[in-house]
Amino acid sequence: MHVLQPGYAREEQDGEHVGSTVTLIRDGAATIIVDPGMVASREGLLAELAGQGVTPESVTDIVFSHHHPDHTVNAALFPAARIHDHWAIYDGDLWISRAADGAELSPSVRLIATPGHTAEDITTLAATPDGVHACTHAWWGADGPARDPFAPDPAALAASRARILSVAAVIIPGHGPAFVPGDSTPR
Ligand SMILES: [Zn+2]
Ligand SMILES: [Zn+2]
Repeated sequence: MHVLQPGYAREEQDGEHVGSTVTLIRDGAATIIVDPGMVASREGLLAELAGQGVTPESVTDIVFSHHHPDHTVNAALFPAARIHDHWAIYDGDLWISRAADGAELSPSVRLIATPGHTAEDITTLAATPDGVHACTHAWWGADGPARDPFAPDPAALAASRARILSVAAVIIPGHGPAFVPGDSTPR
């Protein structure tokens, strides 16, 4: 597991700057990017990747945590990658319908459906020697927000958070650095 870009959202003089967390997972033959993002610099993202010894062409799989552009617009940087979202796998021009919940990308990586931030949110669970890491937009960062202003169904989000916390040792949230969940984690 390696976070290529911790996500952020901040207001600056010229407007709102938003970048999603971009995470690299390597597991056997799979090289996975969870959320290719929106980033300040595509060259910078590819340099981070090169620093991990990974070329764009060698990325085998991309996961969209959900369909918002700040998490998806860079998918074409990785020409060989299959893309996984809540209801399908996209491989070249093949649209392979399937439900995400329980889908396995590699021996240690699987997807679960975690509706909340949007109805189409999925969480990527990666089993590591340090416990299960969850890449998810159920939290923007360690402090929540407790009430996601975008969530159409707060009860669904609470249920998804509970499901994630029942398995995850580390949360890699949509717009912030990784954190270990604790008593102060919004539920
Ligand atoms: Zn979003
Ligand atoms: Zn987001």
